[in-house]
Amino acid sequence: AVPPALEDEKILVSVEVCMKPSSTTREEDLRSAVERMLENRSLSYRDGPIPVPSDDPFLLENIKRIQICDSDEWEQNHKVLLFWQVKPVVHVYQLSEEGPGEELSGDGVLASFNEWMLPAKEFDGLWESLVYETGLKQRLLRYAASALLFTERGVDPCLVSWNRIILLHGPPGTGKTSLCKALAQKLSIRFKSRFSQCQLVEVNAHSLFSKWFSESGKLVAKLFQKIQEMVEEESSLVFVLIDEVESLAAARKAALSGSEPSDSIRVVNALLTQMDRLKSWPNVIILTTSNITTAIDIAFVDRADIKAYVGPPAVQARYEILRSCVQELVRTRVVTPPQENENIVLPSYGLLRETMGASVSPEVGGSADPISKLLLQVAEECKGLSGRSLRKLPFLAHAALTSPYCDIIKFLHALEETARREI
Ligand code: ADP
Repeated sequence: AVPPALEDEKILVSVEVCMKPSSTTREEDLRSAVERMLENRSLSYRDGPIPVPSDDPFLLENIKRIQICDSDEWEQNHKVLLFWQVKPVVHVYQLSEEGPGEELSGDGVLASFNEWMLPAKEFDGLWESLVYETGLKQRLLRYAASALLFTERGVDPCLVSWNRIILLHGPPGTGKTSLCKALAQKLSIRFKSRFSQCQLVEVNAHSLFSKWFSESGKLVAKLFQKIQEMVEEESSLVFVLIDEVESLAAARKAALSGSEPSDSIRVVNALLTQMDRLKSWPNVIILTTSNITTAIDIAFVDRADIKAYVGPPAVQARYEILRSCVQELVRTRVVTPPQENENIVLPSYGLLRETMGASVSPEVGGSADPISKLLLQVAEECKGLSGRSLRKLPFLAHAALTSPYCDIIKFLHALEETARREI
């Protein structure tokens, strides 16, 4: 029996329900159906997919995937929650398959921004694929969620001030841009009931200032006019991603020293003014990234509420990134597992560490053991490689092989060798 009077103590867990592209059912109906299904399901909760019940034709017809994607912390602290401890919060969404809308400037030159309707097919799974050890993803999600809640409740910004600017900085290839996109995607799913439409506009500051300089002024004006139109729609949530913001500061400096046309300073200033203006809209979140880790001298960056440093992955993250790569190659049978272990599941870092400490290892079954240990060894050697390089490593290792298919041990040795070469 369910212990009574635990309603208040229940832990909220987000359950994300991705509809099939073909589904035309109302999201509302699907949500109630999933809520009913969860009520009847006396199973524990853990991060990851929940199977769609095979005896429910309505759910089977309309749902592509049900997933619990909550916190790293939730995973770390509890690992498993019993069903009566949990209050599921169900979010139903359908991915937009439109692809990025590219803006062409008048003469057919590719402009410096892209836009997507969210949640977009391109970013599906991106959030889950990014591995950080410090609870960074959760912090960003909670921050943005609080900002949107304040907006929703109409908190007076003169009394309590908060803004909606996030800056991620750190070395190149550490996943900053991807994290911004993934965050926007995640929020568009979680806030579906409040904002019926979500858009992401990506501006590459560097390309804005390096090419077609005389066009830049016009581009900025056009871009912000467009964004302005989007935010005026109250039910829209708009994410503006400005990549490589440091190039704004560089452009300004160059203009002051006379090495760039003086237009550039006007363009930078126009952009900053526009950004300032945008900030006052409650339904905008501005996401910025910078590859420079020292101070960036730009007005709006000072006002960023969250400035998070995103560094190169530590050994745990390196192991997890490589694990997901190898697992994918096994899934697609490019890499073959040992015969007695057709569906090899490599253990998570935490589990591996635990079982390596203990003398008996029930979870890391016999033949998996040397494999995951070897993988850990490779991860340890990859010190200093960025997440981006790590995700490329398995491909490079494969390209160095003499035959297109190989067994996992041989592959891991090749991976190790490639890593050494890359470093
Ligand atoms: P940045 O903007 O910091 O230069 P990107 O967002 O362009 O980095 O990252 C490129 C790719 O590298 C990502 O799409 C992802 O596949 C991979 N990557 C980088 N860091 C990580 C990480 N911490 N975990 C998983 N993948 C990562």
